[in-house]
Amino acid sequence: MTISVLDRRAADARTSTEPQAPLGALHDAAAGVLEELLPCRVNDAELWFAESPADVEQAKALCIGCPVQALCLDGALERREPWGVWGGELFLQGVVIPRKRPRGRPRKSEAAA
Ligand code: SF4
Repeated sequence: MTISVLDRRAADARTSTEPQAPLGALHDAAAGVLEELLPCRVNDAELWFAESPADVEQAKALCIGCPVQALCLDGALERREPWGVWGGELFLQGVVIPRKRPRGRPRKSEAAA
């Protein structure tokens, strides 16, 4: 079992009694847009939940041109998405973080900085 699975369950338990943000509104808005205009529908969806920092940055860049980007970001913030790229931002444990760190231990020179 990975840490991200544990985080998802914790987030689900935390938000289960809270009112849900408009994920349905996002689906409704997306339904009114041509599917080929939604980058996460026409590209590999795994990119939006990628492990590689470069892939995450690519997903964030693709979101910028999405016609429902603002709605997607608002909903993700309200729902406190546990992970993934939503609305052009990377979420981890419900908050936006600037970038994904590569796997493994930081180099000694990075740790000292
Ligand atoms: S803004 Fe949301 S709906 Fe649009 S491509 Fe990004 S994740 Fe998908």
